[in-house]
Amino acid sequence: MPFSLVPDLLFDDYAAVTPALLRELGVTLLLSDLDFTLAAKATRHPDRALKDYIAALRDAGIGFMIVSNNRSGKRVTEFCAELSVPYQGRAGKPSPRGIFAAIGRAGGTAAHTAMLGDKLLTDCLAAKRAGVLALTVEPVGGAATAWQKVLHALQAPFKSACRRRMQKNGKK
Ligand SMILES: [Mg+2]
Repeated sequence: MPFSLVPDLLFDDYAAVTPALLRELGVTLLLSDLDFTLAAKATRHPDRALKDYIAALRDAGIGFMIVSNNRSGKRVTEFCAELSVPYQGRAGKPSPRGIFAAIGRAGGTAAHTAMLGDKLLTDCLAAKRAGVLALTVEPVGGAATAWQKVLHALQAPFKSACRRRMQKNGKK
């Protein structure tokens, strides 16, 4: 179902998406959104935990790239440089084009790629349209503004559907 807003798997945070789990899922390239997925919005520097996570992916031989709708701002560029990870900006999610560009740059295939993000209408939908595994996390720092709270409420039924399916499949 290419236009589904129900993620394939749902996690509390990115740390739960371990290299071992990715290997089990056949994922060799992990693409990730930045804001609210890897760090709270507008965070300038990656923290120790995120650096360790990226190092663990690298050790496991899993490729990694940040795919963001951000227009290559200085903050994101510096954030990615500090992590030593490549960055695909202007991704235009929910368009799949940024994901396709990232897969092309990494020399991967959609079948072995996952897209991790916090927003169903951009990250998850782009993943579905690109035909990659759609992994969703709860937003880092929670829903802060009124708009984020609305978004949170709108996403809830789709997340519930994902949780029910995961329970049925014995994934959680
Ligand atoms: Mg985000």
